Amino acid sequence: MANFYLDTPELRHHLNHPLMKRIVELKERNYRDKDEYDYAPVDFEDAQDSYDKVLEIVGEICGDIIAPNAEDVDHEGPTVANGRVTYANGTKQNLDAVTKAGLMGVAMPRRYGGLNFPIVPYIMAADMVSRSDAGFENLWGLQDCAETLYEFGNEDQRKRYITRICQGETMSMDLTEPDAGSDLQAVMLKATYSEKDECWYLNGVKRFITNGDADIHLVLARSEEGTHDGRGLSMFIYDKRNGGVNVRRIENKMGIKGSPTCELVFKNAKAELCGDRKLGLIKYVMALMNGARLGIAAQSVGISQAAYNEALAYAKDRKQFGKAIIEFPAVAEILSIIKAKLDASRTLLYETARYVDIYKALDDIAKERKLTPEERQEQKTYAKLADAFTPLAKGLGSEFANQNAYDCIQIHGGSGFMKDYACERIYRDARITSIYEGTTQLQVVAAIRYVTTGAYLARIKEYEAIPAAPEYEGLKNRLKDMADKYAATVAKITEAKDQELLDFTARRLVEMAGYIIMGHLLVQDAGKSDLFAESAQVFVRYAEAEVDKHSMFIFRLDKDDLAYYRK
Ligand SMILES: Cc1cc2nc3c(=O)[nH]c(=O)nc-3n(C[C@H](O)[C@H](O)[C@H](O)COP(=O)(O)OP(=O)(O)OC[C@H]3O[C@@H](n4cnc5c(N)ncnc54)[C@H](O)[C@@H]3O)c2cc1C
Repeated sequence: MANFYLDTPELRHHLNHPLMKRIVELKERNYRDKDEYDYAPVDFEDAQDSYDKVLEIVGEICGDIIAPNAEDVDHEGPTVANGRVTYANGTKQNLDAVTKAGLMGVAMPRRYGGLNFPIVPYIMAADMVSRSDAGFENLWGLQDCAETLYEFGNEDQRKRYITRICQGETMSMDLTEPDAGSDLQAVMLKATYSEKDECWYLNGVKRFITNGDADIHLVLARSEEGTHDGRGLSMFIYDKRNGGVNVRRIENKMGIKGSPTCELVFKNAKAELCGDRKLGLIKYVMALMNGARLGIAAQSVGISQAAYNEALAYAKDRKQFGKAIIEFPAVAEILSIIKAKLDASRTLLYETARYVDIYKALDDIAKERKLTPEERQEQKTYAKLADAFTPLAKGLGSEFANQNAYDCIQIHGGSGFMKDYACERIYRDARITSIYEGTTQLQVVAAIRYVTTGAYLARIKEYEAIPAAPEYEGLKNRLKDMADKYAATVAKITEAKDQELLDFTARRLVEMAGYIIMGHLLVQDAGKSDLFAESAQVFVRYAEAEVDKHSMFIFRLDKDDLAYYRK
């Protein structure tokens, strides 16, 4: 009887962050639902208690059902016949368990059948599900699409579709095409309006679509004939009940094998417009992807947790030269770095989730009434922070998940290379996290403006102003030195006013900011709980070395050196 919530006290620590009070207050609007729904909270403590209880149920389902099914699902995988997908048996059991427990559409308002959860506890559930089986997280996590439907669909669409999602129907987001991957402006799937039938029809091909045989699809398509860029794209809802979309094939992948990745053929598929024409990519898909990126950041943290647990258990168990291998400093160092990266990416994940929670709740309130000037300012501040932190959480979290999975295998030695241990599946599953929902390079493209505008540095300065526990003053001072080095390195590049040089050094600059931010967050965590004492020490030392390395690389770089890197 494993419980993935109760055995990881770090989760409860993040759930109890002081900012949760504001988040719940906004989300529950003075607890007005309590008169209508007997399960709605009556006050802040009641709300926190209900998140805690639901997360305990998620932890139990993860430990007792999803994780034990993961190996079989990995071997069996989904199949396709006559254009329809059949999930592996374990996947069906998992879906049944999460649906029966009422975990579909958890973040949706109660009037549609959801639990009105803030993003923080929802992401916490995603963190645990990913630790159990990263592939299954994709199917469960696609309920993110409901958020976009809620934000941009009309009330009639919300009622028709969100209620179905809360009852267990699944979703997909159909963006990628053979010639439109990172560059979604190139999407060509055609949407044509029929005056006669008073509806839209979709024709074309999508590829690499996770859960492509879902009940409800959000589809990016070209609605404006003759256009070639993002301004000609709109977002549509396709309902499988109407027919017109077939799965031509499912990909034979390296990892997340339980999650069907489909090539879809749209043949006169009836669809309805979601939101306004021409805003499909510019507004709606950007919002959809930001939510999904946070989901992949959670998936990455869950994978890092799985890698750490497997590595730790093996290192305690395996004996060489007459002792457990964990006693060798070389092995202990790898383990402590895995744990430090896990704790660092997790604290960044929940910090980002809190920012998203606040600005989204205020956005939602703005649909009902005019925000006060203070609320408008608050909305603006948190929206900007969420935008700046999301690519960091996804970009760095997914790179850490890959490094941690690699190190987990290393600790297993030759056995890690065999199919006998979970670590080889974790390693294969980790690989996709830095590719989909925008590769790490694309996260850097999204993040670099916050380097050049000084937004990251401004946030770092705010963290510096938060008093630290006396035993962590030393670490904070080292983080301040790192921030000075970062600021000087950024200045060297921005003063050169050379776009190629900036693009070339962007990843290093973004990583420097990310490491310092994670260092501060971990120091704050360690000040509140001993759970993070070691990770704060280990991570700040690691970050210090990385910041030094990047700074040296950039300071020694001459514009002429770029010629060596051009192919
Ligand atoms: C398992 C799996 C599941 C997926 N699920 C979905 C889904 O559900 N829905 C969906 O719509 N899509 C999905 N995708 C597609 C996924 O989002 C894309 O594969 C991804 O965005 C990258 O696009 P691409 O594969 O065409 O690579 P490309 O865009 O061709 O990129 C190739 C390389 O070029 C680099 N590159 C490209 N542009 C730039 C740039 N401007 N600056 C720097 N480097 C750049 C990339 O970082 C990468 O290293 C999935 C993919 C996989 C593999």
